[in-house]
Amino acid sequence: MQTIDLVIAGIDWLITVDPGRRIIRDAAIAVHASKIVAIGKSAEIAKNYAGTRTVDGRHTVATPGLIDCHLHASFQLSRGLADEANAQSFLFDRMYPYEAALDSEDVRVSATLAGAELLKHGVTCFIDPGNYHPEASVEGVMSTGIRCIVSRSSFDLTKSVLGILPERMIESTAVALEHAETVLERYAKSGNPRLGASASFRGLNNASDELILGLDKLARKYGTLLQTHACFSYSTHDSSVARTGMAEIERLEKLGVIDERMLIVHSGWLEPQEVAILARRKPSLVCAPSSSLHNGYGNFLFGKLPELMALGVNVTVGSDHASSGIVDMPQEIRLACCCYKETRINPRVMPPETGIEMATVNGAKAALMSDRIGSIEVGKEADIALFDTRRPEWQPLINPVANLVYSATGDSVRDVFVAGDQVVANGRLTKVDENKLYEEIPVAVSRFGKHLKFDQMVQLRWPVS
Ligand SMILES: [Zn+2]
Repeated sequence: MQTIDLVIAGIDWLITVDPGRRIIRDAAIAVHASKIVAIGKSAEIAKNYAGTRTVDGRHTVATPGLIDCHLHASFQLSRGLADEANAQSFLFDRMYPYEAALDSEDVRVSATLAGAELLKHGVTCFIDPGNYHPEASVEGVMSTGIRCIVSRSSFDLTKSVLGILPERMIESTAVALEHAETVLERYAKSGNPRLGASASFRGLNNASDELILGLDKLARKYGTLLQTHACFSYSTHDSSVARTGMAEIERLEKLGVIDERMLIVHSGWLEPQEVAILARRKPSLVCAPSSSLHNGYGNFLFGKLPELMALGVNVTVGSDHASSGIVDMPQEIRLACCCYKETRINPRVMPPETGIEMATVNGAKAALMSDRIGSIEVGKEADIALFDTRRPEWQPLINPVANLVYSATGDSVRDVFVAGDQVVANGRLTKVDENKLYEEIPVAVSRFGKHLKFDQMVQLRWPVS
């Protein structure tokens, strides 16, 4: 009998997402020194392992900790500020002014709320496309216990066909690259296993070739991923063609930066030759359902993600930002699966197993962390979510994969572990004082709100007395 740190036993259904995609009934997970040392039937594990700590997994479905491949931690305070806006207005009238108004304390509060909301919905790792206060972002996110890949995002072109960026967000190419390298130096090999860094340009229309090539070089130097938004609406596509004569993916191909360590967010509006490039180069792509649905970008009507997946491209899922409402991965998975069924008029498109893979093993691959997270397997870090099945939406529990994707929301997450460390217990965060956080939020909103025209941004149409 071996004494180890933690045994989670009696799990009703363990969805491993391991190479055999095993689902184990009455299962147990043995954890020691942050890693999974054994999984199996509860009775078998009990014969060999005694946990210094035990967690009762009865009435739960266990999954790998979910991976959100695209979430702006600094946008968590933007709910209600970007409704009913097309792509151009969303970016240039709402989100860029919001972003330019944030100071570092606002970003710390926003990032803390982001980590808190993600963890409470079963997410144990997320990729942030970056902001202008990466130190504050890291401080907030890391205080929650979640894993994160941070970035220092950059723009170096003031104008595009879509609009003009706020003064505070403009930098020269050299300064943008210098800031990006500072973040990579500090966080890419920080020694904190929950923290990583990436190189990021926020979009092609406000990025010069020099900036994109410089960031690609930095990503290679530090062995990290290179990420950007691309092809999220007809507007960004059209703007790219108007300025450069090339569609966005064509331009990235011409620059020679697309390969398997690139993460391209959205890719929901593609020309046929762009589909061919993505199928050949195989970057990871992020489906961001609620972002497209909230602002009507047409990513499901025109997106080619099911076809690209069939061609061997790694497709993941991301909740993008709180300004489109939900930051809830089980709901995002459901939207990804169901919206493609609806727009293709075909229920065989995107089965629930595909949705779960997008948010687990595919996410780990995109994060360049397949050897560490993404499935419940011996040797991997113990990132685990337990869903409470004693709730109406989980009943009857005949097919846990279907229930997780089609019925459940992240609200049914009971316990969450990151590297064996319990960060959510019975639905409550263990490392964050939630009451204090909820008091800090209105203070931050009134601070950054002074720089914004809320009367033009907020679409509250009914009288308030
Ligand atoms: Zn985004």
